[in-house]
Amino acid sequence: MLVMKYGGTSVGSAQRIGDLTKIVASYHDKDPIVVVSAMSGVTNLLVEACEKARTADYNAFYRCVDEITQKHLQCIENLFDGHPEQLKPLYEYVLSHIKEIRNLLEGIAILKELTPRTSDLINSYGERISSMVVTYALNSRGIPAQHVDARDVVITDNEFGSAKPLQDKINTKAAEILVPIVKSGKVPVMGGYVGRTQDGITSTLGRGGSDYTAAVIGLAVNATEIQIWTDVDGILTCDPRLIPHAKVLSKVSFNEASEMAFFGAKVLHPSTIKPAVENNIPVKILNSFNPSFPGTLITNETDATQTIKAIAFKRKVTVLSISSPKLLFGYGYMSKLFSVFEKYKTSIDLVATSEVSVSMSLDSTDQIGNIVSDLSQFADVKVENELAIISVVGMNFSRQSGLASKIFSALQTVNIKMISFGASDINFTLVVDMKELDGAVKNLHRVLFDEA
Ligand code: ASP
Ligand code: MG
Repeated sequence: MLVMKYGGTSVGSAQRIGDLTKIVASYHDKDPIVVVSAMSGVTNLLVEACEKARTADYNAFYRCVDEITQKHLQCIENLFDGHPEQLKPLYEYVLSHIKEIRNLLEGIAILKELTPRTSDLINSYGERISSMVVTYALNSRGIPAQHVDARDVVITDNEFGSAKPLQDKINTKAAEILVPIVKSGKVPVMGGYVGRTQDGITSTLGRGGSDYTAAVIGLAVNATEIQIWTDVDGILTCDPRLIPHAKVLSKVSFNEASEMAFFGAKVLHPSTIKPAVENNIPVKILNSFNPSFPGTLITNETDATQTIKAIAFKRKVTVLSISSPKLLFGYGYMSKLFSVFEKYKTSIDLVATSEVSVSMSLDSTDQIGNIVSDLSQFADVKVENELAIISVVGMNFSRQSGLASKIFSALQTVNIKMISFGASDINFTLVVDMKELDGAVKNLHRVLFDEA
């Protein structure tokens, strides 16, 4: 069995869904299970509608509902010209679900209250509708498909907004529901992102969660492969907006993919595919706009023929430099420092320490005021904004003599604020001024890839 997950742009219009059916047809002999996102933009509209309903802005949330309705109806009209009788149940399904969305939003507007649990219920409609449209599209193109309500399979905990899938329960449900459909020669089609708690309440796995669904389903059925169909050719050596000639990596390890995503090169949330990769299920990133392209394979192993994989970066980083003579002597000082970040739920990206100071970079500054004020009670704190992180990702860096000198030669004119190297042996990370970022990345890409 094969799990094929299609993201929002891959189901974003009649044309895209038409292309999807062709791709599924070409893999039909591999026993696919199809997982789809909501049509692109729909989850954002649902989120916005919830917010508007909470402030009882009726006009605004009705507008969102209208837009969602138009998007789906237009897609259906363009997908199936003719066959009105066969399509009646689909229209009824879509319109009754949209009516439910409207009713729920009106309820929120009356209460002026929006809980994560209610948000999840409303946000779930995008995938619940798109998966039904895709099921009809496959059947109409001669590929026998059967819709599965993702909530019947993806059982989760009660953490609404970012519920955790309960793999054991999902394994059982997948064997009961998905496998028999595949065995009968049909393609099961389900929404990603959506689940249900053990008490039967609709939940979601968090934004971007359809990849997560694909991974847990792939693991549950012990798939031969999980395919993530998206709108780019795969994981690239660098962001193509900065390096237009960046190349697609044919193979990366899970750890390398994680480092890249962490520093901004996000094709998927790697943490969501971790269980699958750990169980040796290969994950492939493929382009639904360019289906014959081989894409990027993510496995447990790295491609040893290429030691340097990518340059990832993150803009708008803040560095806090914390100094205090107490660092010299006090044990427990570090944990006191970190507890401040824990208190304000702010994660730290990089840490560099010296005898009397600690520098750390953060990408979220929501709580910076509170953090600085707490830290200032026992240390001197300096805040630097407008910085950026660059990370060179690859393998066995510590065994490559000459790599550091190559990197520094590319960055001769750049003022480097912080360096971190070695913690994982697969990245070399620098903090620079934001205004120097573009030039620094271009030079690095030239030295490490173009001239290599
Ligand atoms: N539709 C959801 C989102 O936009 C989940 C997904 O697409 O993966 O976040
Ligand atoms: Mg997505």
